[in-house]
Amino acid sequence: MKVIIVGGGIAGLAVAIGLRRAGHTVKVFERSTFSREVGAAINVCPNASRILLNWGFDPHKSRLVTAQEQKVMVGKTLKTVVKLDCSQFSEIYGSAFFFAHRVDLHSELLRLATQSENPVEVVLDSEVKSYDPNGSVTLMDGSIHAADLIVAADGVHSIAAKIIDDGSPAIPTGQSAFRFLIPTEVIRENPSAASLLEDGVMKILTGTDERRLVWYPCANGTIQNFVGIHPSINQGKKEDWDLTATTSDVVAQYKDFHPTILSIIRKATSIKRWPLLYREPMPRWAKGRLVLVGDAAHPMLPHQGQGGAQAIEDAGALYTIFNGLVGQITYQDISDRLKIFETVRINRASAIQVFSNAGQDEAERVYERAKPFMATGQHIPTTPAEYIEHNFGYDVIKEAEAWCHRYAKAGSLMEQRPDWIDAASDSWNINKE
Ligand SMILES: Cc1cc2nc3c(=O)[nH]c(=O)nc-3n(C[C@H](O)[C@H](O)[C@H](O)COP(=O)(O)OP(=O)(O)OC[C@H]3O[C@@H](n4cnc5c(N)ncnc54)[C@H](O)[C@@H]3O)c2cc1C
Repeated sequence: MKVIIVGGGIAGLAVAIGLRRAGHTVKVFERSTFSREVGAAINVCPNASRILLNWGFDPHKSRLVTAQEQKVMVGKTLKTVVKLDCSQFSEIYGSAFFFAHRVDLHSELLRLATQSENPVEVVLDSEVKSYDPNGSVTLMDGSIHAADLIVAADGVHSIAAKIIDDGSPAIPTGQSAFRFLIPTEVIRENPSAASLLEDGVMKILTGTDERRLVWYPCANGTIQNFVGIHPSINQGKKEDWDLTATTSDVVAQYKDFHPTILSIIRKATSIKRWPLLYREPMPRWAKGRLVLVGDAAHPMLPHQGQGGAQAIEDAGALYTIFNGLVGQITYQDISDRLKIFETVRINRASAIQVFSNAGQDEAERVYERAKPFMATGQHIPTTPAEYIEHNFGYDVIKEAEAWCHRYAKAGSLMEQRPDWIDAASDSWNINKE
């Protein structure tokens, strides 16, 4: 099968690796020259790392830090109020919880996609202008490229999403995130700051007004990563990506935090400010030969740390569903399989999208909204430990395999979509409003 993927971010590259492994010929069109991958970190949760490690992702090459502990601390006093042991996650969930520098993660995904046999072709500096769900894309230079399957991994501002569901724009939440990195050796210079350095520990420092400063190490522990969630300064004005901020801007937001934390913030040199955007879950992700993945399908706030992980689950599902599809491939083959993909993925990702609207300690804010996306009888998490179990314990490959088996058993693989898939979607309460 010939596949075109639009966007070479975490979602696009993960899907490229998966579909390449499934035996398909994959081309990625990316509008940037890859110099823009954000200098910040991302956590790679077990539900995602399990997939990547099975596909040959190298945690050493990508300088991953294995999480040992997650702590919630009061920003003002540094008193620890919640502790979660992560050191056994590898045994419990089949893979570790990692912290990655985004550039390291991206480079390793690119290596996996483009190495050795049947490499993915990544075409940079190539912006897609429009999509045809019948199986083609048009680039800015006017050239038209056709494929059996078109995967739109074009991020939160996806133009493909508008073709599938035009009623759901990305909206500003009124919150933004500061993101910055500080070399560990710089923090070590100040003894009181140095005393807060801990290997493999994620600290969530809380303040008032939902302000949080999340701090964890990456790049083999040589760099400390900070994400500061705060009310947007430019609230109500036009969204602007790639904003920068000064240390004074950050200190102003966290001025009631402990003086040692403020002394650390003052060491930051390059601070980015990202407006946090949200879109309501979409009832459909596919049309004809076109399918959405990653933030294009399910942009979410960072409170569950699952945006990238959900993109990797998309890749795991597509890999499983399109594995072994060879020979003459019909339009019906593609649309049937995309229906299975939606059945496997939409409720799972939509529930996490809703959970991500609140901190893990604020479940009551999202409980009712999440209900339509949970299977009948499925437990809705209400505590940090239950969120971890729900997010990390899920195996998308097994889930996709189970649905593929049901599909195969239902009979006609090639001719028509069995009714039970729609029936299953209904019973899973996919929100069709
Ligand atoms: C503050 C913050 C912290 C986060 N922390 C975490 C975390 O700890 N763990 C986690 O799992 N997730 C986290 N996330 C979420 C995660 O970063 C995203 O979910 C993930 O990066 C989405 O990847 P993507 O490939 O879908 O989108 P993007 O990274 O936006 O990639 C889209 C790509 O498509 C390209 N593109 C767009 N339009 C076109 C076009 N027309 N033609 C060609 N190319 C195009 C872009 O140039 C880009 O390279 C965080 C997000 C934020 C904002």
